[in-house]
Amino acid sequence: MDQDESVTQLSLFEQAPADAGQRIPEQRAPDALLCPSCHRAPASSPEQHARDIDQQWLEITAAGQIAVRRFCAACQPHHGLEFLACELCGLDLFLIGELANEVAADRLPTVLLTWLAAEGWNPHPVLTCPSHAR
Ligand SMILES: [Zn+2]
Ligand SMILES: [Zn+2]
Repeated sequence: MDQDESVTQLSLFEQAPADAGQRIPEQRAPDALLCPSCHRAPASSPEQHARDIDQQWLEITAAGQIAVRRFCAACQPHHGLEFLACELCGLDLFLIGELANEVAADRLPTVLLTWLAAEGWNPHPVLTCPSHAR
């Protein structure tokens, strides 16, 4: 009797290894969705990830130019941030590094103003995004 039981258990285990057609290589996101900064596929939903990497992060490069960086939720900076937002719609720019320090001190460096103007932002009389600048 004991033997019979152990045989039964063994055969159960033998059936266990799944043959449940797990051939789904679709976890890879399209290249366009990989984070431009850390090159990881989204951990969040594709929609959230798209919003994350759509966000513009500005910093001043060593050469003194404005650089636009993009991050996903996993690699974005979490401190030393400042924000500039359109007064009309709230569309915002995230600022990092030295640029954040400048804006935190209420200074808008000329290079930033130049970049904003080139992108269609208008800093006067209130900051407005390209959709709302006049
Ligand atoms: Zn990333
Ligand atoms: Zn706006």
